[in-house]
Amino acid sequence: MQYHRRQFLITTSICLSGMALGCRAKKPDQSVTISPAAKVRDNTPLQLSLPDLGYDYAALEPFIDAETMKIHHSKHHAAYITNFNKAATESNLAGLTLEQVLANTAQYSAAIRNNGGGHYNHAAFWQMMHPNGGAAFGGKIAEAINANFGSLEKFQEKFTETAMKRFGSGWAWLVQAKDGKLLVTSTPNQDNPLMDVSEVKGKILLGLDVWEHAYYLKYQNKRADYIKAWWNVVNWNKVAALLA
Ligand code: MN
Repeated sequence: MQYHRRQFLITTSICLSGMALGCRAKKPDQSVTISPAAKVRDNTPLQLSLPDLGYDYAALEPFIDAETMKIHHSKHHAAYITNFNKAATESNLAGLTLEQVLANTAQYSAAIRNNGGGHYNHAAFWQMMHPNGGAAFGGKIAEAINANFGSLEKFQEKFTETAMKRFGSGWAWLVQAKDGKLLVTSTPNQDNPLMDVSEVKGKILLGLDVWEHAYYLKYQNKRADYIKAWWNVVNWNKVAALLA
């Protein structure tokens, strides 16, 4: 009697810990994970929405003017979202995140590639700027920049040169490659280094929009002046947070 009771207690406790193969535990209910709500969500086309800047349109003055910020965010970025949502609905693009779509962009239409990239790049760009962000350079990100480029000045030279050489419209990037190395690269149009079509791939740490719509109202054709001013508002805290 005593023996049987003890045996029962041991068996019960092992079964509860989930480690005994022999005990007849109830199988988990698989239907719970595939609820009707989840099915509906999977069939709903991927839709994007315009994120807030997190600061006022005038917050980056005098380096980036309020009028440019307002048009860039409320018109240009908003248009990428409208056009992406239309294309995603028409092509029934569902059950994927934007990052997954971008990683396989060669499979999708130009509308998905250009507008999906347009949204991703701008959503990142707004976060990579901050009033007085340039003053936050230091610590972990400074060590990484110095180790990979020699100094902040040398990195800025290389990044600026890459941004200046981008013919027509596109972006300059600081990315972290799979091996951890930091690289400077550039992409045309609204492509980015997350895309399978990108020459250089990696995790985006910093991006600069060199489309004329990003600077023409204040700087006209002087892209170099825009880039020089932009360093004052680079959000180094954000770049450091993105560094793996
Ligand atoms: Mn732009």
